Amino acid sequence: MPKVSLSTSIKHSFYTPNSLRRKNIWLVNLRWVSSLALSIFILGLFFLKLENYPYSALTSIVIVLVIFNSLLLFYLKKRKPKYLRTEENIVLAQIVIDYLILTVLTHFTGGIDSPFHLFYLFHIIIASVIFETKYLAFIIAAVAVGLMSMLVFMEYWQVLEHYSSGVKVYNLTDIALALAVFYVTIFVSTYIGATLMMRHKKVKNLIFAQNEELEKSEREKMLFFRFVSHELKSPIIAVQSAINVVLDVMDVKLKPQARDMLERGRKRTLQMIEILKDLVSLSYEEKDEKHEVEMVVPCEHIPEVVDYYRPSAVEKNINIIETVCKQHQGFQIDKFVFEKIITNLISNAVRYTPIGGKVTIKTDLDDKFWYLMVSDTGIGIPIEEQKHVFEEFYRASNAKIFEAVGTGLGLSIIRKIVEQENGEIFLKSKVGKGSTFTVRFPLK
Ligand code: ADP
Repeated sequence: MPKVSLSTSIKHSFYTPNSLRRKNIWLVNLRWVSSLALSIFILGLFFLKLENYPYSALTSIVIVLVIFNSLLLFYLKKRKPKYLRTEENIVLAQIVIDYLILTVLTHFTGGIDSPFHLFYLFHIIIASVIFETKYLAFIIAAVAVGLMSMLVFMEYWQVLEHYSSGVKVYNLTDIALALAVFYVTIFVSTYIGATLMMRHKKVKNLIFAQNEELEKSEREKMLFFRFVSHELKSPIIAVQSAINVVLDVMDVKLKPQARDMLERGRKRTLQMIEILKDLVSLSYEEKDEKHEVEMVVPCEHIPEVVDYYRPSAVEKNINIIETVCKQHQGFQIDKFVFEKIITNLISNAVRYTPIGGKVTIKTDLDDKFWYLMVSDTGIGIPIEEQKHVFEEFYRASNAKIFEAVGTGLGLSIIRKIVEQENGEIFLKSKVGKGSTFTVRFPLK
């Protein structure tokens, strides 16, 4: 596998517009919680009768928070997320507006003495997590430090009033010390948060890049697989036609031994073609397989498929019983999918049923679903192996003895395509008694 270095050039955005929108809404929700907490805080101050606090200013802050949050939420709910850059700008705007409100709150609750100045840290963490580049987190840290310093010095120079709950000595040394601690806390937190997140984002980029490489090599492998299966099909079909021609033209002139050999050859080529068809189906990706959904009338399609398998059934003296044509109502389904399912189930039923057995094909309908049931009186599937028969390449132990040729792919393909059509497949089987495969599709 190609190596991908940590400094891979393939860059993947850590977020999509939708996921960033969820983060924006998450920030809005956090703000509701903060508004509630702040209201409780104001009520607490009121009941404690702490007179130094400007209640009307603090209440105005809550009102501003609530109005801003409501408008933002209205905008976020109304506009669908489209661009990553827009969502990033909304996060940035939220952080800056929060910082402005927080600075006002810090001012009215004591400036440098306010416990709220620790809240500047929250947005540093948010910025480190959200933004792709480290420098944005540092810019936000600088905004926090700038706003806080401006506030403190304006209070110190008495441009703004200094609110405090107690009598405090308010000199330059105290301010310098408090601010220094604040700066260190903010910048160190930014550094730690941003560095950790950068590492985390690099690992995620690496996983994305490796995943892309894996998908690419898987696609190439499948293309090769598909090419080989296609290429093998033509010579085998040519061999089959040649055998048919010899059998038809020479007919009675052939010695019984030669006829027997040719008949066996014909059977083997038929099996090979079926196997190659499975391999081709397997190598197709889901999107390649999409066909037009159309109205399918089981009554018209199932007999065609049954006729195709009748010769091999007759050869084994197997009686194929259809009860399909009693039901003329059609339903919407991809015709290709429909035929593939029936073909596979009938082919398996005939292959895994001994000489003289019976294969029954039934369809049914209720208010919600359309059902197809293919039953046989064949070898059955051991109970402990039943859950595995829908896995790729799995063949039950008794099937390998009874019928040497098989890929173990048919049922896995069937289950995949049935599920793609929102259907389900069920199996009921008893060793030595037979099996019933039921496919059920919702009526559209
Ligand atoms: P294949 O028939 O090529 O082996 P399938 O995927 O069609 O592959 O089937 C997987 C396995 O399921 C078979 O090998 C067999 O063991 C079991 N199986 C499928 N259909 C029947 C059946 N009608 N009766 C008994 N066993 C069956």
